[in-house]
Amino acid sequence: MGGTFDPIHYGHLVTAEAARCKFGLDCVIFVPSGHPPHKKDYPVSPTEHRYLMTVLAVVTNTYFDVSRIEIDREGYSYTIDTVKQFREMLPGAELYFITGADAVLEILSWKNMSEILDYCHLIAASRPGYQLGGLKNRLKSAVGENINRIHSMEVPALAISSTSIRKRVSEGQPIKYLLPEPVEQYILKNNLYQKPDK
Ligand code: ATP
Ligand code: MG
Repeated sequence: MGGTFDPIHYGHLVTAEAARCKFGLDCVIFVPSGHPPHKKDYPVSPTEHRYLMTVLAVVTNTYFDVSRIEIDREGYSYTIDTVKQFREMLPGAELYFITGADAVLEILSWKNMSEILDYCHLIAASRPGYQLGGLKNRLKSAVGENINRIHSMEVPALAISSTSIRKRVSEGQPIKYLLPEPVEQYILKNNLYQKPDK
């Protein structure tokens, strides 16, 4: 499961666990992005903060792990390079790339989108505010036979986003129960997401 994880929250964790159970996955590896090619409209937090928060969030689930491969790679992070690297590291494994509905809707802009599906399945999880309906029809012409490797999945709806958490922190609003407590503590301890003049 790829993401900026700035910060990781229960929407990510619930989606990952739902995918693990529904598709019988041996484990879910969270891959914090290094240098995303899709420019964000805000400065992304330093990679080590995002990596450590992700580690803190997954420690209580024996099936969850975190990979540094995008963080440690030079240059922009492209999903195709990541899935190829996982294929090399885990030659016999069946790989699934887990995304939320918003990320999958951007899929057509991804580098080598059809090729990605040669290496892994794609799980498109429901997310409040985004529609998954008609996804396969829209992608059919772009991915051909690989359309069978795209799977939609309903997950318990959690209208949580990292953007809203960052905003809440900067406004002094509570974030408790939106994300694991150690991550909340980490944010406070390191003064993340404060307004610049604070
Ligand atoms: P931001 O607001 O900074 O974009 P985010 O909450 O969207 O953060 P990302 O790190 O961008 O989190 O998302 C990583 C992956 O998790 C994406 O595939 C995204 O669609 C999915 N995701 C994030 N939040 C949810 C949620 N509440 N429910 C389902 N999927 C989610
Ligand atoms: Mg996002």
